[in-house]
Amino acid sequence: PSITRGVTVDIPKVSWDDIGGLKDLKKKLQQAVEWPIKHSAAFARLGISPIRGVLLHGPPGCSKTTLAKAAAHAAQASFFSLSGAELYSMYVGEGEALLRNTFRRARLAAPSIIFFDEADVVAAKRGGSSRNSTTVGERLLSTLLTEMDGLEQAKGILVLAATNRPYAIDPALMRPGRFDLVLYVPPPDMDARYEILRVHTRNMKIGDDVDLRRIAEDTELFTGAELEGLCREAGIVALRENISATLVSNRHFETVKSSLKPALTRDEIE
Ligand code: ATP
Repeated sequence: PSITRGVTVDIPKVSWDDIGGLKDLKKKLQQAVEWPIKHSAAFARLGISPIRGVLLHGPPGCSKTTLAKAAAHAAQASFFSLSGAELYSMYVGEGEALLRNTFRRARLAAPSIIFFDEADVVAAKRGGSSRNSTTVGERLLSTLLTEMDGLEQAKGILVLAATNRPYAIDPALMRPGRFDLVLYVPPPDMDARYEILRVHTRNMKIGDDVDLRRIAEDTELFTGAELEGLCREAGIVALRENISATLVSNRHFETVKSSLKPALTRDEIE
């Protein structure tokens, strides 16, 4: 992958199968992302204009970034990644320049997906500042809106934005032709947790006594990221016990599980 100041370009290797649970959501993303790219002729034939933006919202660590990457992989699209917080922290004018430059490069590399993490930092509701001064956030937001409106002529470019604070997003971004699709990415339920544990133990040597179903039952409120951490830590505990260990056993998983508390609380779930 080539890396130019804050932007990385390549086609991600993550596939839909690397994401546990979220079956319906994956289907919706497939339709929104893959179809317009893979079947652009069919869209043109029927005169349908593909959507330009999808907003993914939900608690941290529940696979918003991974979903965007899997969508890019499935559509064999170039993946550009921007972070709202990073843009916000740049010198005056640099953030806008990086935004414009990313859209320009995405047009050149189309089909492309632009993933915009922590979108709320840039796309926060306007107003509140004094009349003559435009804030950093407002200038970035207006650049983003201009670029998104410019996508009309650009085929094969989709913006996937992610946020933990959807209520903070400026309503101007929700107008038709901008973020037309808003999807909630929930924390995993029992079945999804089981699938996530399977994904992250796929390449591990685990003992027959490891009951992933049982672990899934016992890990309510754990995010995908935390479950991934649990599997990795279990492996490390096994090695710490015996550096020549050949298996990760149930007790290693139990040791880690009993030491972990989920960061999410029930009231944080939408
Ligand atoms: P943030 O809001 O903090 O950016 P996010 O929602 O974008 O988080 P990701 O970065 O996609 O979450 O996920 C973090 C890690 O957790 C990834 O390494 C991913 O492998 C793992 N993970 C999260 N959800 C799942 C899932 N459903 N299946 C498999 N792995 C998952």
